[in-house]
Amino acid sequence: MQTRVKTASEIKAMRESGRMLATVLEYLRPKTVPGISTKQLADLAAAELKGLGGTPSFMGYQGFPDVICISLNDEVVHGIPSPNRIITEGDIVGLDFGVTHKGMITDSAISLIAGRPKAKGHEDLLERTEKALQTGIQAVHDRVRTGDIGSAIESYLKQYPYGIVRDMVGHGVGHDVHEDPNIPNYGQPDTGPWLDKGMTIAIEPMVTLGTEQVLIAPDGWTIKTADGKWAAHFEHTVLITETGAEVLTKV
Ligand code: MG
Ligand code: MG
Repeated sequence: MQTRVKTASEIKAMRESGRMLATVLEYLRPKTVPGISTKQLADLAAAELKGLGGTPSFMGYQGFPDVICISLNDEVVHGIPSPNRIITEGDIVGLDFGVTHKGMITDSAISLIAGRPKAKGHEDLLERTEKALQTGIQAVHDRVRTGDIGSAIESYLKQYPYGIVRDMVGHGVGHDVHEDPNIPNYGQPDTGPWLDKGMTIAIEPMVTLGTEQVLIAPDGWTIKTADGKWAAHFEHTVLITETGAEVLTKV
């Protein structure tokens, strides 16, 4: 499905959806500590969102079996919550969540470190991946091209010895979890599809401490780095405006 220019009421619903989403992620942040299982975190997310009045977008999406993706360490995205997966000291934890409200969907992710970081490099990775997301958001305006956004993200990250994952990309969002076009985290300025004000997109750099190559784990869902190096992922859903972008997934 091609992403459409959203109506005023659709945008209002997405602002509400995005606020719920960000509220749940902030609720999970202090609970993401050594000793808790990823399934416990998923259940907390489900209960908190229910209380806020939203519906989890990922449950059942293309068969995904839970409300949230939780990806640890060398897992980049799409980790499945499990009662057997216990978070340990220093893990990099990616929380990727989607909320449906009045038929409209927002999508956002954060990465954080449980307890004490194992290495300064892990804190740097998270800080720079989040900065890459902000750099991509700052590139947005009416009639921006997808390559303008990707180029901004890639140019910022290129100063570091990181892998920028290419197999997974940002996307249009709103009526569906994933709408066309793709929004890669790399590219050339003045290339790719044009995006108009009123469209809503998810920008989501995925950055590794090693290779950009990823593989799919035997569970058929979890995307991991091919070399086992750790990764980070930050994502916001934004509304394209005349001169910039409005972040919708914020409290
Ligand atoms: Mg997401
Ligand atoms: Mg997404």
